[in-house]
Amino acid sequence: MVVVMKPGSTKKQVEHVVQLVREMGLKDHVIEGTERTVVAVIGDDRFKDRSVLETVEGVDKVVPILAPYKMASLEVKRERSVVPLRAGGAIGGRSVGVIAGPCSVESKSQILEIAEQVKAAGAIGLRGGAFKPRTNPYSFQGLGEEGLKYMAEARERTGLAVVTEVMSIDQVEVVAEYSDVLQIGARNMQNFNLLNKVGEQSKPVVLKRGLSATLEEFLLAAEYVMAKGNTQVMLCERGIRTYEEYVRNTLALAAVPELHRVSHLPVIVDPSHGTGKNYLVDSMCRAAVAAGADGLIVEVHNDPEHALTDGCSR
Ligand code: PEP
Ligand code: MN
Repeated sequence: MVVVMKPGSTKKQVEHVVQLVREMGLKDHVIEGTERTVVAVIGDDRFKDRSVLETVEGVDKVVPILAPYKMASLEVKRERSVVPLRAGGAIGGRSVGVIAGPCSVESKSQILEIAEQVKAAGAIGLRGGAFKPRTNPYSFQGLGEEGLKYMAEARERTGLAVVTEVMSIDQVEVVAEYSDVLQIGARNMQNFNLLNKVGEQSKPVVLKRGLSATLEEFLLAAEYVMAKGNTQVMLCERGIRTYEEYVRNTLALAAVPELHRVSHLPVIVDPSHGTGKNYLVDSMCRAAVAAGADGLIVEVHNDPEHALTDGCSR
């Protein structure tokens, strides 16, 4: 449920609501909007007595949230969220933020060169995998911490926000040390222990949609992160697995307006993994923006024919 405070309610009244929520054995999350404050009540509140909260001074109404996800729901927060990155950049709001970079960090010179190029092209974030989730165990697995160091150097030179994947709980600390944004890959979207762990971090999160996840499962995965206190979540549509073979994945662009209809979280689109075809990326970027995407995450390489991962695909 959400406790909607009256416009002009005092800080003390909000604190009283918070105290009562905690006494009920539930968690609270205070969201200060431009017009009024709401207290989102987190946890299983089905058998709790709402009337206790309804009579508190300063409370306008107590509204049950029908969606199974709460913090991610537009019912809790009616204003769209904006996730600030570094140097004035942000995902959400009026402009479309572009995060670009190679699939994998391959060497220092590679990432530094690409960083300069994507910066010059207007990107606000630099992507690049140091820990790579590979289908084949014999394929290049990424440079690990060395790759993170190169990414951090690219940030020093360009000011771009570093976005990189964290694959497991034991990597969270080192990835958070070097990066600005923690990426949860499609294969880990329902790794609930990992979601809990990134939920305890203070860095923004790009959460990629699982290969066969419904939008509800996707939002519930975001809820895991948010319920732990980290509300800076960006949802990323990256294509889903279907019977279709002309593309690597089927980019579900209707997910963008649908997610916006039910959630306040910013939505970004990854047309690179969403199609797996470099000649489709440009048009799918435009289509994503037309569908209302708040940002794009795009793979870029300075020598695609020799890329160690996700190179040319014609
Ligand atoms: C990636 O962005 O590097 C990646 C591996 O994507 P996904 O998790 O969407 O497959
Ligand atoms: Mn890739």
